[in-house]
Amino acid sequence: MQLVRLVYASKKTAEFLSHDLEAILRKSNTNNEHQNITGMLCFNRKFFLQCLEGSRTSVNRLYNKIANDPRHEDVMLLQYEEISERCFGDWMMSFLPESHLHRSLLLRFSINEDFNPYTMSAKSCFSLLHYVHEQLLDPQSDYYVDQHSEEKKAQT
Ligand code: FAD
Repeated sequence: MQLVRLVYASKKTAEFLSHDLEAILRKSNTNNEHQNITGMLCFNRKFFLQCLEGSRTSVNRLYNKIANDPRHEDVMLLQYEEISERCFGDWMMSFLPESHLHRSLLLRFSINEDFNPYTMSAKSCFSLLHYVHEQLLDPQSDYYVDQHSEEKKAQT
C-alpha cells in the first residue's frame, strides 16, 4: 500500500460558522487516527491549507470527502506524490492558527505578508507547513505545543 502526501488549498464559504473549526479539528483527530492519516491544517479565517499523509486509498477517500464539504470552496489540489516517509508523523492533524502566521514567516515562504495559498507555489505551501510543524515539536520554539496535553484535551 503506497504512502502518499496530498496538499490542497481552499476558501471558507458562508456555511462555515465560528464553531466549525473546532468541530473539524475534533473530527479530523478521530477519523484520521482510525485511518493512520497524519498532517497539518492552516486557517486564517479566509483560506485553508492542508496536508494529508497516509495510504493512497485512505488519503484519496478523505480528500474526496473534504472536497465535497460545503464549508469551503475552490478546493485546489497543489501537490500529490508518493513519499518514502511521513513529515507529519507525530500528529494526526496539527493546526497552525492565524496568530502564528507572522510577517517574517509569511515573507519567508510567499511574495508578501498576506497568507494566500493561491498565490504561493505548491513547494512553498508544503515548506511553510513543514517548517511550522518542526517548530511545533521544538521545545525551544515559540510555536512549541505539548502534544501529550493536546491529545488529552482532544479526548475530553
Ligand atoms: P459525519 O461527520 O457523520 O458527516 C456526514 C456528512 O455531513 C459529511 O458529508 C459531512 O461533510 C457533512 N457535514 C458534517 N458536518 C457538517 C456541517 N457542519 N456542515 C455541512 N456539512 C456537514 N475530516 C476528516 O475526517 N479529516 C480531516 O483531516 C478533515 N479536514 C477538513 C478540512 C477542511 C478545510 C474542511 C472544511 C473539512 C475537513 N474535514 C476533515 C471534514 C470532512 O469534510 C467531513 O465533514 C468529515 O470527514 C465527515 O466525517 P464523517 O465521515 O465521520 O461523517
